[in-house]
Amino acid sequence: MNAYSLHPSAPPKSDCIFIGRLAHANEQAVYTGSFNRYRVRLTADMLWCSEELYIPLANIESTQIIRKGWLIRRHALEIVYRDPVSRFRSALYLCHISPLGTYQKKRLEKLEQLITQQRQQIIAVPGRDPSHEIIMPHVCEVCGSRDAYLVHYVYMIGAVAFWYRAQRQRVHCPKHMLVEGLCAYAITALTGWLGLSVIVWPITLIQNARTLRPAMGRIAYALPIPPLAGAVFLLGLLFKWWSL
Ligand SMILES: [Zn+2]
Repeated sequence: MNAYSLHPSAPPKSDCIFIGRLAHANEQAVYTGSFNRYRVRLTADMLWCSEELYIPLANIESTQIIRKGWLIRRHALEIVYRDPVSRFRSALYLCHISPLGTYQKKRLEKLEQLITQQRQQIIAVPGRDPSHEIIMPHVCEVCGSRDAYLVHYVYMIGAVAFWYRAQRQRVHCPKHMLVEGLCAYAITALTGWLGLSVIVWPITLIQNARTLRPAMGRIAYALPIPPLAGAVFLLGLLFKWWSL
Protein backbone atom coordinates (compact mmCIF):
# COMPACT_ATOMS: atom_id res chain seq x y z
CA MET A 1 0.00 0.00 0.00
CA ASN A 2 1.24 3.47 -0.68
CA ALA A 3 -0.22 6.87 -0.03
CA TYR A 4 0.26 8.18 -3.54
CA SER A 5 -1.71 5.60 -5.49
CA LEU A 6 -4.55 5.80 -2.97
CA HIS A 7 -5.16 9.47 -3.70
CA PRO A 8 -4.11 10.25 -7.24
CA SER A 9 -6.52 13.17 -7.65
CA ALA A 10 -7.93 15.97 -5.52
CA PRO A 11 -10.23 14.88 -2.67
CA PRO A 12 -13.91 15.80 -3.29
CA LYS A 13 -15.10 19.15 -1.93
CA SER A 14 -17.53 17.42 0.44
CA ASP A 15 -14.58 15.79 2.26
CA CYS A 16 -12.68 19.05 2.70
CA ILE A 17 -12.61 21.21 5.80
CA PHE A 18 -10.42 23.77 4.05
CA ILE A 19 -9.97 24.78 0.40
CA GLY A 20 -7.81 27.73 -0.52
CA ARG A 21 -5.29 28.96 -3.05
CA LEU A 22 -1.79 29.12 -1.62
CA ALA A 23 1.63 29.42 -3.18
CA HIS A 24 4.96 27.78 -2.60
CA ALA A 25 7.58 29.74 -0.64
CA ASN A 26 11.16 29.05 0.42
CA GLU A 27 12.45 28.81 3.99
CA GLN A 28 12.91 32.60 4.03
CA ALA A 29 9.15 32.93 3.40
CA VAL A 30 9.82 34.29 -0.11
CA TYR A 31 7.21 33.42 -2.74
CA THR A 32 8.90 31.22 -5.38
CA GLY A 33 6.83 32.03 -8.47
CA SER A 34 3.50 31.57 -10.18
CA PHE A 35 4.28 28.01 -11.35
CA ASN A 36 4.02 26.76 -7.79
CA ARG A 37 0.46 27.71 -6.89
CA TYR A 38 -1.66 25.13 -5.18
CA ARG A 39 -5.36 24.79 -4.58
CA VAL A 40 -4.77 23.36 -1.14
CA ARG A 41 -7.36 20.97 0.27
CA LEU A 42 -7.44 19.68 3.82
CA THR A 43 -9.48 16.61 4.74
CA ALA A 44 -9.78 14.72 8.04
CA ASP A 45 -6.57 12.83 7.33
CA MET A 46 -4.52 14.57 4.67
CA LEU A 47 -3.23 17.84 3.30
CA TRP A 48 -3.48 17.85 -0.50
CA CYS A 49 -1.54 20.39 -2.59
CA SER A 50 -1.26 18.63 -5.95
CA GLU A 51 -1.19 15.12 -7.41
CA GLU A 52 2.54 15.03 -6.73
CA LEU A 53 2.43 16.68 -3.33
CA TYR A 54 0.20 15.64 -0.54
CA ILE A 55 0.88 14.70 3.02
CA PRO A 56 -1.02 12.27 5.29
CA LEU A 57 -1.69 14.23 8.50
CA ALA A 58 -0.14 11.38 10.52
CA ASN A 59 3.16 12.22 8.78
CA ILE A 60 3.15 15.85 9.90
CA GLU A 61 5.52 16.51 12.78
CA SER A 62 5.06 20.24 13.33
CA THR A 63 3.52 23.39 11.90
CA GLN A 64 4.25 27.04 12.58
CA ILE A 65 3.82 30.47 11.03
CA ILE A 66 7.18 32.04 10.28
CA ARG A 67 7.70 35.78 9.96
CA LYS A 68 10.53 37.28 7.96
CA GLY A 69 11.47 40.66 6.54
CA TRP A 70 11.75 43.98 8.30
CA LEU A 71 10.30 46.62 6.01
CA ILE A 72 7.97 44.28 4.16
CA ARG A 73 6.61 41.58 6.44
CA ARG A 74 6.50 38.11 4.91
CA HIS A 75 4.55 35.23 6.41
CA ALA A 76 4.70 31.55 5.54
CA LEU A 77 3.29 28.39 7.04
CA GLU A 78 6.07 25.90 7.73
CA ILE A 79 5.01 22.24 7.69
CA VAL A 80 7.62 19.71 8.78
CA TYR A 81 6.70 16.19 7.72
CA ARG A 82 8.04 12.75 6.96
CA ASP A 83 7.99 12.27 3.19
CA PRO A 84 5.94 9.12 2.41
CA VAL A 85 8.11 8.34 -0.64
CA SER A 86 11.69 9.13 0.38
CA ARG A 87 10.99 8.61 4.11
CA PHE A 88 13.15 11.63 4.85
CA ARG A 89 12.06 14.58 6.94
CA SER A 90 11.06 17.46 4.66
CA ALA A 91 9.63 20.93 5.14
CA LEU A 92 6.99 22.60 3.02
CA TYR A 93 6.48 26.37 3.06
CA LEU A 94 3.19 27.88 1.92
CA CYS A 95 2.38 31.55 1.55
CA HIS A 96 -0.64 33.60 0.52
CA ILE A 97 -0.02 36.49 -1.85
CA SER A 98 -2.74 39.12 -2.30
CA PRO A 99 -3.44 40.59 -5.78
CA LEU A 100 -1.35 43.60 -4.66
CA GLY A 101 1.62 41.35 -4.00
CA THR A 102 1.58 41.59 -0.20
CA TYR A 103 1.94 38.59 2.11
CA GLN A 104 -1.29 37.70 3.91
CA LYS A 105 -1.41 35.58 7.05
CA LYS A 106 -5.11 35.03 7.85
CA ARG A 107 -5.56 32.04 5.53
CA LEU A 108 -2.29 30.52 6.77
CA GLU A 109 -3.38 30.85 10.39
CA LYS A 110 -6.73 29.26 9.61
CA LEU A 111 -5.03 26.32 7.86
CA GLU A 112 -2.51 25.87 10.67
CA GLN A 113 -5.29 25.86 13.28
CA LEU A 114 -7.26 23.24 11.33
CA ILE A 115 -4.22 21.00 10.79
CA THR A 116 -3.41 21.14 14.51
CA GLN A 117 -7.03 20.25 15.39
CA GLN A 118 -7.11 17.31 12.99
CA ARG A 119 -3.74 15.98 14.14
CA GLN A 120 -4.93 16.01 17.74
CA GLN A 121 -7.96 13.95 16.72
CA ILE A 122 -5.81 11.42 14.84
CA ILE A 123 -3.57 10.99 17.87
CA ALA A 124 -6.61 10.78 20.21
CA VAL A 125 -8.16 7.74 18.45
CA PRO A 126 -7.69 4.85 20.94
CA GLY A 127 -5.55 1.99 19.73
CA ARG A 128 -4.13 4.09 16.95
CA ASP A 129 -0.48 4.86 17.24
CA PRO A 130 0.48 7.44 14.62
CA SER A 131 4.18 6.59 14.95
CA HIS A 132 3.44 3.40 12.99
CA GLU A 133 1.88 5.39 10.19
CA ILE A 134 4.73 7.79 9.67
CA ILE A 135 6.69 5.59 7.32
CA MET A 136 4.88 4.18 4.32
CA PRO A 137 7.32 2.14 2.25
CA HIS A 138 6.67 1.92 -1.46
CA VAL A 139 6.30 -1.55 -2.90
CA CYS A 140 6.75 -2.42 -6.60
CA GLU A 141 3.34 -3.12 -8.16
CA VAL A 142 4.75 -5.99 -10.23
CA CYS A 143 7.22 -7.91 -8.05
CA GLY A 144 6.62 -6.51 -4.54
CA SER A 145 10.19 -5.30 -4.14
CA ARG A 146 10.53 -2.69 -1.38
CA ASP A 147 13.08 -0.71 -3.36
CA ALA A 148 10.42 1.11 -5.39
CA TYR A 149 9.55 4.66 -6.44
CA LEU A 150 6.58 6.57 -7.74
CA VAL A 151 7.17 7.05 -11.49
CA HIS A 152 5.33 9.01 -14.18
CA TYR A 153 5.65 7.45 -17.63
CA VAL A 154 4.86 9.65 -20.62
CA TYR A 155 3.71 8.08 -23.88
CA MET A 156 3.32 10.16 -27.02
CA ILE A 157 2.05 9.07 -30.42
CA GLY A 158 1.85 11.61 -33.26
CA ALA A 159 -0.54 11.36 -36.22
CA VAL A 160 -0.26 14.35 -38.59
CA ALA A 161 -2.56 17.00 -37.04
CA PHE A 162 -3.41 14.97 -33.93
CA TRP A 163 -1.41 13.52 -31.16
CA TYR A 164 -1.98 11.30 -28.20
CA ARG A 165 -0.08 11.99 -25.02
CA ALA A 166 -0.73 9.98 -21.88
CA GLN A 167 0.85 9.94 -18.47
CA ARG A 168 0.77 6.81 -16.38
CA GLN A 169 1.58 6.89 -12.69
CA ARG A 170 2.98 3.66 -11.25
CA VAL A 171 5.07 2.45 -8.34
CA HIS A 172 7.95 0.37 -9.72
CA CYS A 173 11.31 -1.03 -8.70
CA PRO A 174 14.31 -0.09 -10.91
CA LYS A 175 13.97 -3.33 -12.93
CA HIS A 176 10.30 -2.81 -13.79
CA MET A 177 10.95 0.89 -14.27
CA LEU A 178 13.42 -0.08 -16.99
CA VAL A 179 10.83 -2.32 -18.71
CA GLU A 180 7.97 0.21 -18.80
CA GLY A 181 10.23 3.27 -19.11
CA LEU A 182 12.05 1.92 -22.18
CA CYS A 183 8.69 0.99 -23.71
CA ALA A 184 7.39 4.57 -23.23
CA TYR A 185 10.67 5.91 -24.59
CA ALA A 186 10.64 3.65 -27.68
CA ILE A 187 7.01 4.48 -28.57
CA THR A 188 7.65 8.22 -28.14
CA ALA A 189 10.97 8.14 -30.02
CA LEU A 190 9.51 6.20 -32.96
CA THR A 191 6.10 7.85 -33.37
CA GLY A 192 6.11 11.11 -31.40
CA TRP A 193 7.52 13.20 -34.27
CA LEU A 194 4.92 12.12 -36.86
CA GLY A 195 3.03 15.38 -37.24
CA LEU A 196 2.41 18.54 -35.24
CA SER A 197 3.44 16.76 -32.06
CA VAL A 198 7.04 17.30 -33.21
CA ILE A 199 6.84 20.64 -31.31
CA VAL A 200 6.63 18.95 -27.89
CA TRP A 201 8.51 15.80 -28.94
CA PRO A 202 11.97 16.87 -27.66
CA ILE A 203 10.54 17.81 -24.23
CA THR A 204 8.66 14.52 -23.99
CA LEU A 205 11.85 12.61 -24.83
CA ILE A 206 13.69 14.47 -22.08
CA GLN A 207 10.87 13.58 -19.65
CA ASN A 208 11.18 9.91 -20.68
CA ALA A 209 14.91 10.06 -20.03
CA ARG A 210 14.43 11.63 -16.59
CA THR A 211 12.01 8.83 -15.65
CA LEU A 212 14.75 6.27 -16.33
CA ARG A 213 17.39 8.00 -14.22
CA PRO A 214 16.87 5.81 -11.09
CA ALA A 215 17.06 2.63 -13.20
CA MET A 216 19.92 3.51 -15.57
CA GLY A 217 21.94 6.18 -13.83
CA ARG A 218 23.24 9.23 -15.66
CA ILE A 219 23.40 7.38 -18.99
CA ALA A 220 19.61 7.92 -19.12
CA TYR A 221 20.23 11.59 -19.93
CA ALA A 222 21.84 10.52 -23.23
CA LEU A 223 18.66 8.75 -24.39
CA PRO A 224 17.13 11.74 -26.24
CA ILE A 225 20.34 12.25 -28.27
CA PRO A 226 19.96 9.49 -30.94
CA PRO A 227 16.34 10.33 -31.92
CA LEU A 228 17.03 14.09 -31.87
CA ALA A 229 20.24 13.67 -33.90
CA GLY A 230 18.28 11.49 -36.33
CA ALA A 231 15.62 14.18 -36.66
CA VAL A 232 18.22 16.89 -37.33
CA PHE A 233 19.90 14.65 -39.93
CA LEU A 234 16.56 13.96 -41.68
CA LEU A 235 15.72 17.66 -41.64
CA GLY A 236 19.12 18.45 -43.17
CA LEU A 237 18.58 15.83 -45.88
CA LEU A 238 15.12 17.19 -46.63
CA PHE A 239 16.44 20.75 -46.81
CA LYS A 240 19.23 19.69 -49.17
CA TRP A 241 16.80 17.82 -51.41
CA TRP A 242 14.40 20.76 -51.44
CA SER A 243 17.09 23.33 -52.30
CA LEU A 244 18.46 21.29 -55.24
ZN1 LIG B 1 9.50 -4.83 -9.55
